[in-house]
Amino acid sequence: MPVFSARSLARLETCHADLQTVCRELIRQYDFCVLEGHRGPVAQQAAFEMGKSRLQYPHSAHNKTPSLAVDIAPYPVDWNDISRFREMIIRFDALACLLRRQGRISNRFVYGGYWPSLQDWPHIEIKEK
Ligand SMILES: [Zn+2]
Repeated sequence: MPVFSARSLARLETCHADLQTVCRELIRQYDFCVLEGHRGPVAQQAAFEMGKSRLQYPHSAHNKTPSLAVDIAPYPVDWNDISRFREMIIRFDALACLLRRQGRISNRFVYGGYWPSLQDWPHIEIKEK
């Protein structure tokens, strides 16, 4: 059974409890890593300058405490294989549906991979109610 690295776990722990719950279930059946959770001002500025984020601090869901977004990637990471990212998102969403039905999480999620422009495959954020 896959497990998180210490780095992935530390990043995940900066995220909203519902994101943590789904990720902790998903790692039991699918190997992935956590690229980013919370981003402070310096990290957000760097992400903005690198083109990883279109938003400046404090407007990204990653800037909230706890972070309302998590970036994850299939492990080992291959940025050219989008089908694996797609599979990961489908698995995440299926688990999220189950966990909502079980009352273990309450939120729905938005997937950056499904954005119509500038798809952001690793990005999952809590949908505003
Ligand atoms: Zn993100």
